[in-house]
This record gives sequence, structure tokens and C-alpha cells, in this order.
Amino acid sequence: MKMKQFAVIGLGRFGSSLAKELVSQGLEVLGIDRDEETVDEMADVLTHAIVADSTEEETLRSIGIRNFDCAIVAIGDDIQASIMTAILLKDLGVRMVVAKALTELHGKVLERLGVDRVIYPERDMGIRVAHQLVNPNLLDYIELSKEYTIVELSVPGKLNGVTLKELDPRAKYGCSVVAINKKSGVIIAPAATDVINERDVMVIIGTNKQIESFEDELVGS
Ligand code: ATP
Repeated sequence: MKMKQFAVIGLGRFGSSLAKELVSQGLEVLGIDRDEETVDEMADVLTHAIVADSTEEETLRSIGIRNFDCAIVAIGDDIQASIMTAILLKDLGVRMVVAKALTELHGKVLERLGVDRVIYPERDMGIRVAHQLVNPNLLDYIELSKEYTIVELSVPGKLNGVTLKELDPRAKYGCSVVAINKKSGVIIAPAATDVINERDVMVIIGTNKQIESFEDELVGS
């Protein structure tokens, strides 16, 4: 079942950005922050915004927090408040609790408390930007496991007009092109005869090593 009602607790830079994006996707968002000024700034943007301390059980109960499909704890600096809020949300029976962690240890504690998803926005964004700086063709990637990754690579000019048969990443590097995103539309499971053009986006699956060798080929002359 698709989640519709979200509570975002802590409307700092991360929480407010997340909350706004959920609203722009047509979802209902309650924003909670203990700082009145912060809540005032978000009041017009979110479905509801209230001033409250999320470490107070009675407050969370009276908001009816357990009726929300998902609660996101976007408090970072105040680790004690983050942990106490996460415990209360789980105890009160919120179905899905997501929490932001600042450090690995903070994340481990949240996991032990039963938080359904722990996120590390600063760490993950740092890694992502580093990958993109090293390989200018890399648009995005998803780590499927420690070994396997899906990447989106933009096609460099030197490969304009090449067929997948000519490129042959499976035989040369062991990785596969699972889709090509062209201006004219997306080709899923492309055939050997499909042609790639400059600035098309190739979606590739493989081991990290296979993908690295393929990326080197794209960057190299
Ligand atoms: P960001 O990097 O997203 O700006 P941060 O990691 O610096 O955030 P904090 O400054 O600790 O995180 O918290 C973000 C927001 O959470 C702040 O607006 C703060 O007022 C709010 N907040 C902190 N503790 C509580 C609490 N117990 N109840 C409600 N809101 C809280």
C-alpha cells in the first residue's frame, strides 16, 4: 500500500527539504519542530506544521502519531533527542520509522532500537559527489550489494552512433546495458542492434570492478 501521510520531525535543512519534496509529490506532511520560528517558516508550505518537542510521549500521542504511515526523524545534532524520539515512535506503533544518523555509532543505536531505515545524508552525498567527480560520465548509481551496482552513465561523444553489439560491454567487461534513456524515450532491455548517441543515458548493471573498467574505457581515449 502506498504511503500517504508523513510526519517529519525536525525541520532543519534536511528535514525541511524532505518535507517540501513530499508535499510537491502530492503527499500529506505534518512538520514538527520545537523551534517556533522554524515552524512559522514552514507553515504555508506543509499540510500542517506544529511546534512540539518530539521527546515528550504525551505530545506525540495527542498528535495521533501512530496513524501516520511514516515518521522521519530528521534531528541530527541532538543525538539524545533523535534516539528518544525514535524509541517513542516505535513504542507508539508508527508503522515505518526512518531516522537520520550523523555517525555510524548513532546509526547503529537507531538500528538496534528497531528503526526501519537509517539514513546518512551527509556521508552518502559525500560519497556520491566523489564518484561523480572522478567519473564525469556518471550521473547516478545504486549499490545493490557490496559487490553489485547499477549506474547511469551518459554516452560520451566518441561513442555517438555505436551499436550495443560494437560496444559489447558484456563480452569485454562482463557488465550489461539494461536500458537506454534517449530523448525519444526509454529502451528497456535493448537489443544488440540498438544504437547509442551522445548524451543518451545508459543504465548498466555489473560488479563494481566490471563497471569501473567500463567507465575507464568511456573516459579514456
Ligand atoms: P540539518 O543539517 O538538517 O539542518 P541538523 O543535523 O543540524 O539538521 P539539528 O539542528 O539537531 O540537526 O535539528 C534539526 C531540527 O530539529 C532543528 O530545527 C531543531 O529545532 C529540531 N529539533 C531538535 N530537537 C527536537 C525535538 N526534541 N523536538 C522537535 N524538534 C527538534
